[in-house]
Amino acid sequence: MSKQVVIVGGGVIGLLTAFNLAAKVDRVVLCDQGEVGRESSWAGGGIVSPLYPWRYSAAVTALAHWSQDFYPQLGERLFASTGVDPEVHTTGLYWLDLDDEAEALAWAAREQRPLSAVDISAAYDAVPVLGAGFKRAIFMAGVANVRNPRLVKSLKAALLALPNVTLREHCQISGFRQQGGRITGVHTADGVLEADDVVLSAGAWSGDLLRTLGLELPVEPVKGQMILFKCAEDFLPSMVLAKGRYAIPRRDGHILIGSTLEHAGYDKTPTEDALASLKASAVELLPGLADATPVAHWAGLRPGSPEGIPYIGPVPGHDGLWLNCGHYRNGLVLAPASCQLFSDLLTGAEPIIDPAPYAPAGRLG
Ligand SMILES: Cc1cc2nc3c(=O)[nH]c(=O)nc-3n(C[C@H](O)[C@H](O)[C@H](O)COP(=O)(O)OP(=O)(O)OC[C@H]3O[C@@H](n4cnc5c(N)ncnc54)[C@H](O)[C@@H]3O)c2cc1C
Repeated sequence: MSKQVVIVGGGVIGLLTAFNLAAKVDRVVLCDQGEVGRESSWAGGGIVSPLYPWRYSAAVTALAHWSQDFYPQLGERLFASTGVDPEVHTTGLYWLDLDDEAEALAWAAREQRPLSAVDISAAYDAVPVLGAGFKRAIFMAGVANVRNPRLVKSLKAALLALPNVTLREHCQISGFRQQGGRITGVHTADGVLEADDVVLSAGAWSGDLLRTLGLELPVEPVKGQMILFKCAEDFLPSMVLAKGRYAIPRRDGHILIGSTLEHAGYDKTPTEDALASLKASAVELLPGLADATPVAHWAGLRPGSPEGIPYIGPVPGHDGLWLNCGHYRNGLVLAPASCQLFSDLLTGAEPIIDPAPYAPAGRLG
């Protein structure tokens, strides 16, 4: 397709959008105000599932299921072509002492997901380092986590190898060029960058940019803090989750504990309060961490949206402008499906799933 597409924002969503579109259109230019893949997509935990999938709408579930099936092949393909392994690590996930266990099991039966109640003694057998006192467990086999900093690194490497893709880092977009009813480019510090189509995938910052057109996109930054431990490789065999806090094992024994949910604007400062609270959760889940010192503590800004349903598709009244943003707590799991659906819509291909629930039309103020 003879087009130049400009993508604004190089988190996992912008990077994967660029990767998909590069196979379909003449030229793709991806601009990021910093380095690509250093914001939320770097800061997240990388669980390849919503935290409580049964609490989400069918719209989120549809994207999550498509992506979960696709992740292993995406990981292999990126590793083979770039030498950077995104480490899709399938460990399964235990939820402990849930209040809505019955709803979870009913959802799993309906959606045919491999989630089942397990005897708590079986959970302790499988995860001997689990803290004492948990009474009930459900387990979903097959849930993976992806090492998201490596995922974005390997996506960047894959894009750098493509002749029709240009990555422009440290290139902040301040607004859109409008000609007639059409968006025909973006404003950078160096002038206008022309585009046949512009894709807004600027994560938590997407609403600010759309506001320059007088449109209200209800996407706002939601701060999340995490801490990281380094343990023996076999310390934690599965992901575990209780009271909204989780532990994620990487293949090399790093354990992530997350996360907080804070409305603090664009502030990304890690706080002492969150550190203390995350450490307490870590020790409750895994008492063996009591004497360990976290090796890192950071915060990221999720692109919060109503019900976590992303905006994927064209912006009505502004031909040439498209959204792929607002993935809130699930941008890593939802990325493969969101970006495939997006590419289908922009290129006029048969969409992988019904695009209606994600359409910006009717959802912008
Ligand atoms: C603590 C935490 C834990 C998480 N855990 C998980 C999890 O386990 N599983 C999961 O699926 N998701 C998780 N998430 C959510 C996930 O990280 C996000 O939904 C996802 O990364 C969003 O990707 P994105 O590309 O939309 O945004 P981002 O990664 O934030 O990328 C947006 C990019 O746009 C750029 N940008 C912004 N404004 C401009 C501009 N004006 N010009 C140019 N560039 C611009 C930014 O520099 C940035 O690189 C977590 C998030 C956090 C913070």
